[in-house]
Amino acid sequence: MEQKNVLITGASRGIGKSAALLFASRGYHVFLNCRTSVDELQKLKYTIETLYGSTCDILPADISHSDEVDAMFQKIYHSWDALDVLINNAGISHIGLLSDMSNEEWDHVLRTNLSSVFYCCRAAIPAMVARQSGRIINVSSMWGTSGASCEAAYSASKAGVNGLTRALAKELAPSNIQVNAAAFGVIDTDMNSQLTEEERSALSEEIPIGRFATPDEAALMLWNIATAPEYMTGQIIGMDGGFL
Ligand code: NAD
Repeated sequence: MEQKNVLITGASRGIGKSAALLFASRGYHVFLNCRTSVDELQKLKYTIETLYGSTCDILPADISHSDEVDAMFQKIYHSWDALDVLINNAGISHIGLLSDMSNEEWDHVLRTNLSSVFYCCRAAIPAMVARQSGRIINVSSMWGTSGASCEAAYSASKAGVNGLTRALAKELAPSNIQVNAAAFGVIDTDMNSQLTEEERSALSEEIPIGRFATPDEAALMLWNIATAPEYMTGQIIGMDGGFL
């Protein structure tokens, strides 16, 4: 069987790193995107190649800049016709009152979490269309549906990701390309490292299942979406411990 490939943006840590290990363990060639943590990704590449015997490439690029995204895809197309799976995972949070937020902070969150998905999809789609196959998975959040206090830009960006996912799914269904989003609840990654112990336990109490999800659980969810029947497209699939 022909080897499949996956590009995971923001693969240096957290959900992206767990997903990279999972896809590699299932035989995928993994493109590891990172913004700056190339050293961290060298260790991940070593693990992938020695532990799983899979192959991978490190692709440094700040995905909030379209020129860097386009250059990253040129490197992919150097040796591959198209991506089998694109996981738009990289993202940042911003906590604070909207009234205290500067234009630059707003733009930074929207560019990193939403425009980047547009840039990566635009670069991935023509080759997928030419091949009449492909899967795009956008990492979203339950806050994109419900909104979170003091996370307005983040919530807006993830609501945008949900809208983009649904629209693109319709646009690409005739080309046999599935577009779905994983709307995660709270995952135990560095993104939540600023929480105090009290905040962590208060938040855990609000989650019916009583705890944060692990990055490995999030990665498994991404794998399940990547391998779901072709008929599943345009879905915002929640994994939030029953929160919503
Ligand atoms: P994380 O902070 O551990 O990892 C984020 C990754 O994105 C890092 O590798 C970081 O370097 C990368 N990144 C950030 N900006 C980038 C840029 N401009 N270019 C390239 N890479 C960039 O966070 P995580 O929890 O693993 O988050 C991954 C995704 O999951 C994000 O989209 C986040 O919004 C989403 N999410 C997280 C949670 C959570 O509770 N942790 C919940 C719902 C959704």
